Amino acid sequence: MARYTLLDQTQGLRMNRRDLLKAIPLTAAAATTTLAQEKRKYKIVVTGGHPGDPEYAAGGTIARLTSAGHDVTLLYLNDGAWETSAEIRIAEAKRACEILKARPLYANQKNGHAIVDNDHYQSFQKIIEAEAPDAVITHWPIDNHPDHRAIANLTFESWKQLKHRFALYYFEVSDGEDTVQFPAPTHYVDITAVADMKKSACYAHASQTPDFYYPLQDTVATFRGFQAATKKAEAFILQLGSPNTFDLTVATS
Ligand SMILES: [Zn+2]
Repeated sequence: MARYTLLDQTQGLRMNRRDLLKAIPLTAAAATTTLAQEKRKYKIVVTGGHPGDPEYAAGGTIARLTSAGHDVTLLYLNDGAWETSAEIRIAEAKRACEILKARPLYANQKNGHAIVDNDHYQSFQKIIEAEAPDAVITHWPIDNHPDHRAIANLTFESWKQLKHRFALYYFEVSDGEDTVQFPAPTHYVDITAVADMKKSACYAHASQTPDFYYPLQDTVATFRGFQAATKKAEAFILQLGSPNTFDLTVATS
């Protein structure tokens, strides 16, 4: 390393022009390698009651995380089968994940029939453990939909049983319809630059009346953007007791 240190005056004086030209790109390459090593790659799991929930609540943040080189999995509690078939819902989620460069995963429960008991706490924990995330983002637990409350509860129990080994954040989705009483956020992510990508991921769930739900969520993004002094933002609450090894603001920058 020493022979490329331009600030070493003794050696600098001895360098001829050829040595100097050789030294500059090597120094730049060394600096790039150091920066790449310092920028850690994180694993983030975003859990949702149904296909579409993570995309609507945190689609902009997911896009920013994946474009920063992090690995993001969208873990859905069920396949969303109801009036629309599982086949269609799974295909829509696959498309949404492709847009956001995330990976879909299912906890294999039934839409509208969420079960929270010891067996399901354990099976859900196994899924989280296998993913080994640095952070998990889930529903705010006070919500009008029982499937949303269920996955928030299952996620919190995994976090507790796994001794707080990952950072836990809460998102808001379709406020008023679903999330209620979401208090003061601790983190804001500016999604202005990726708002179109988020919209495409939400509209990939074409069977789920995006013309109704997307404007509702977009109003929330505009309100959070106003609070965060930008055009569009997503807001999160960090669970107290989370480790300080992951920070959503750092990971999305
Ligand atoms: Zn839902």
